[in-house]
Amino acid sequence: MTFPPIRPELAGIEPYGAPQLPVDQVPVQLNVNENPYPPSAECVADIAASAADAARTLNRYPDREFVALRAALASYLSRDVSGEIAVEQVWAANGSNEVMLQLLQAFGGPGRTALSFAPTYSMYPEYARDTMTAWVAGRREDDFSLDLDRARAMIEEVRPDVVLLPSPNNPTGTALPPEAVTALCESAAEDGIDGLVVVDEAYGEFRRAGVPSALELLPAHRNLVVTRTMSKAFAAAGLRVGYLAADPAICDAIRVVRLPYHLSAVTQAAALAALRHAPELLGNVDQLRAQRDKTVAWLRDQGHRVADSDANFCLFGTFRDRHAVWQGLLDRGVLIRETGPEGWLRVSIGTPEEMAAFEDALVEVIKEMT
Ligand code: PMP
Repeated sequence: MTFPPIRPELAGIEPYGAPQLPVDQVPVQLNVNENPYPPSAECVADIAASAADAARTLNRYPDREFVALRAALASYLSRDVSGEIAVEQVWAANGSNEVMLQLLQAFGGPGRTALSFAPTYSMYPEYARDTMTAWVAGRREDDFSLDLDRARAMIEEVRPDVVLLPSPNNPTGTALPPEAVTALCESAAEDGIDGLVVVDEAYGEFRRAGVPSALELLPAHRNLVVTRTMSKAFAAAGLRVGYLAADPAICDAIRVVRLPYHLSAVTQAAALAALRHAPELLGNVDQLRAQRDKTVAWLRDQGHRVADSDANFCLFGTFRDRHAVWQGLLDRGVLIRETGPEGWLRVSIGTPEEMAAFEDALVEVIKEMT
């Protein structure tokens, strides 16, 4: 008998997590797609005052329906659509990780299947495993786009209950064109089965000019779910707030599986305060998008392959020994991520100073290896 008596399919599995190293050891941390700009002193003060207010009633449970937060998120999302996103269409949880887990708790499960197209976000198979949902991964093309005919054929064959599509994709940075989202929503809803299509826009705010959000397509497809997070564009990864917009019936289904009071009063208060500072927080997004484009151009100038990126990171390569490149950078105080298809590496976009350190270190490492 093994101890602890864990489910056999979980036995011996290492918990997920990018390697984390202390900042005093590795000063340039470009490995988990964080926003490098901390909130301003005014924003910090507003969050602190709001958290203190919430603390005065911590003897009580929080608003289980977090109506004020959902209203603020709905109004924030409404900027990205020609119509309006209603409060009833919005749901939130502790990070979009939890939103996605709740989606699979409600719409996946034993006898049901989740489908994505690799390379894709590495947590999806874990949500599937944890909810006992079967996991199927198709493939993206060599340029990391989706071939729509092949994707549709796969949906017809697998008949997934949930399709998970990050756009922009992690780890490649590739955004899905709206025609792809439309085609997949239609395929997933054929034969009287409304398979859900979840477009994970964790990096949505970083998309290049002219690239639309899938939010625009919500009125046309009741099986479409668009998820977002405050972790990236809002520079609030430590807050743990992710959210979605979808048909209100989808939010109602999630209410069945959510834990009561899953969003603490402090979380709700801090998120509302952060949303009041949206213009400031999102101001840095433009800077990061410009820095991303510069980094992509610089890497290409150096002769590397770089996937087109609509996110706050880029995937570059390809290296015969990518681990040696990753280690060489780490030895020079720059931590990036060894992820993606064989031979590729992913670097998150930091401040101009951090990107200069990355570039200097990469030039040295490549010189040393040749
Ligand atoms: N989706 C994608 C594609 C991600 O890359 C991440 C975080 N790395 C998440 C969702 C989850 O983010 P969070 O739980 O912080 O909202």
